[in-house]
Amino acid sequence: MARLPVFLGVEASDNETDVNSSWFLRFEALFSRARLIVLEEAMRMIIALRSMTNPSDHTLLTIIAIEEMTIDEGKHHVAALKGLIAACEEKNLKRLEAELRLVQACFHLVLRELGAPSDYDVDASLSKSWTLCHTFPDTAGLLISTCIAVRTVVGGGQRPPNLYKARDIWWTWPKHVVGNLESCQFGHPFSGETWSGCPECGREATKTKPINPQKYLKETDFVAAMGKQTFDSNKWRN
Ligand SMILES: [Zn+2]
Repeated sequence: MARLPVFLGVEASDNETDVNSSWFLRFEALFSRARLIVLEEAMRMIIALRSMTNPSDHTLLTIIAIEEMTIDEGKHHVAALKGLIAACEEKNLKRLEAELRLVQACFHLVLRELGAPSDYDVDASLSKSWTLCHTFPDTAGLLISTCIAVRTVVGGGQRPPNLYKARDIWWTWPKHVVGNLESCQFGHPFSGETWSGCPECGREATKTKPINPQKYLKETDFVAAMGKQTFDSNKWRN
């Protein structure tokens, strides 16, 4: 973090309160995803051990131990992610909020697979993520395929091999050219040379209003015109 101002080409400052930075939350998101991979691997191991015929006492104890550890950590991350999501809402980090909601849903899936009770409302959270994807198509919208995949799994469908396909943001940061750091309306710093707009919040899709047909149809004139229409069927016969 101390070298970050040098990389970005800005003055180092002790007062960071005026910068709406997502770095800390991004790191937490990365850590959560790393732990999710570990828990998903543990879950697969449990399933494999359960499928053994005539397991030894040692194997049975191993299953119970891994289950308890996985469930405890899964519950911890579901709760911890609630706080991170609230921080994203406060900071207007639309893309990260959508991502964290999907990660949280995946932790919920691990708990569900292991039969652990959870009061987490996965449908409401996924619905919020879905709305973010559609409202901010350039940022959260990049997670739309992941959102569809997670919803499919929550609904009982098969889990695709790779849920995360929106990592490009990290590989484009090193292309930042010093002197081109900009910030959006919410104060998110971003590389103006690399992106045309803020990669965190982004453009909000304009809502299309429902069309009022009366606006385009002059009903009185239309009815009058219809009354004058005549149809001579003989014209259309050979
Ligand atoms: Zn922004």
